Amino acid sequence: MIESLKNIEAIKTPPFEGKGRLCILGSGESGVGTALLAKQLGYQVLVSDGAAIKPTYKAELEQHGIDFEEGGHTEEKILSANEVMKSPGISDKNEMLQKIRANHIPIISEFEFAYRHKGSSKIIGITGTNGKSTTTSLCYHICKHGGLDCALVGNIGYSIARQMAEDPKEWYVAEISSFQLDDIQTFRPDVAILLNITEDHLDRYDYKFENYIKSKFNITKYQTDKDFFIYCADDEVITKYFPLLTTNTNPLPFSMKHELKKGAHIKGDQMMIRIQEERVAMSIYDFALKGKHNQYNTMAACIAATTVGIRKEKIREAVIDYSGLEHRMESVASVRGVEFINDSKATNINSTWYALESMTKPVVLILGGTDKGNDYSLIADLVKDKVKAIVCLGIDNKKIKEAFKGVVNKIVETQDAKKCVEACFALATKGDAVLLSPACASFDLFKNYEDRGRQFKEAVMQL
Ligand code: ADP
Repeated sequence: MIESLKNIEAIKTPPFEGKGRLCILGSGESGVGTALLAKQLGYQVLVSDGAAIKPTYKAELEQHGIDFEEGGHTEEKILSANEVMKSPGISDKNEMLQKIRANHIPIISEFEFAYRHKGSSKIIGITGTNGKSTTTSLCYHICKHGGLDCALVGNIGYSIARQMAEDPKEWYVAEISSFQLDDIQTFRPDVAILLNITEDHLDRYDYKFENYIKSKFNITKYQTDKDFFIYCADDEVITKYFPLLTTNTNPLPFSMKHELKKGAHIKGDQMMIRIQEERVAMSIYDFALKGKHNQYNTMAACIAATTVGIRKEKIREAVIDYSGLEHRMESVASVRGVEFINDSKATNINSTWYALESMTKPVVLILGGTDKGNDYSLIADLVKDKVKAIVCLGIDNKKIKEAFKGVVNKIVETQDAKKCVEACFALATKGDAVLLSPACASFDLFKNYEDRGRQFKEAVMQL
């Protein structure tokens, strides 16, 4: 690993300094956001999409006089670019991308582009396998409540480049995926958070976990002694790989297992934050977000807020009144004493582990969908302790049935949200919880995890 990190350093392409031709591959929120900023800055911009461009985005490009093409790429146009911005959804295996690489045209991500043009603004960048949206949104909530001039950007839905073009702020609180971190050359957040690293998206990383780890660590790669790196000290992957990086950032770890002199830890029911002279203490029972995973997320967000100077009373108030995000351990309703919880965003086994870990009632668990290579043995103990029945919601449920046949007495299969909710309700009794935390992607039966979560909620409302 030490070797491979060095190699990456050696082949780094120097950033393109001029304002020449920028080609943007992909026309989603990141692509269009980058196009708007680049146009404003005086670049010659081409947006090129292999598929159709969404009508609303097309209208925006037209309105700003930005050149675009859809349903295919014109090679000569793209290969005459000085630099290419690759949207995060595009895989490295893309044919056009390979030609661009073969022609040695630098490829960057939206975050690299936006970073170069942010002026004196600053960035809190948040990454990790799980908990990014929750932590980003909580951190933004605390910063906003504390009076910081800031915007919520990145994977959470709103392009950072677009925000800079339309309404620049002093601070950007940004959710950053590994795909956005793949193609950076100088990007350096003032405050970086790395929440956790477990296997995910390996199809995009040649099925090599190390490639994914390296991509996540890019969040701190170019940081200096003026910056802060907030990371989970209980995460074995992070603690193993962090010392191998030659960054001289200021590390601020957080932990539930060890008392720490700097950063944050939870001991008993108290969270303690220590950063230089600053001290923040708070009871974990006051956290609006429940569950162990959310205690980690809350610690990370509170450390970040402390480093940017938010006062401790403001941090406390914001952590108490934060209302949470849809589809993440969202309490939907209680029907005749049965609580229904929507955790549709749990699309991998690690998220489901944390969801189950936080449950204090007997659980009817909804699992299933498109399996991304789950090892169900990781949740077997929790299932044994807490789950009274499993209701599968997916087309192919063989793996789940195999994994839990000796562990749970009742395993039922369903293939739509309504039947699934009805089956759960029939299996549950007063005092139980029905938990949709499927550990799988949703594409076999639904458009996406939001669609799955909403259909689940609608079905609960019809009971
Ligand atoms: P992301 O944006 O990284 O996908 P979210 O905040 O949307 O993460 O949460 C996704 C799911 O991951 C949640 O439903 C929850 O069950 C789980 N989760 C949230 N935070 C953590 C964490 N710190 N560690 C492990 N799992 C988590």
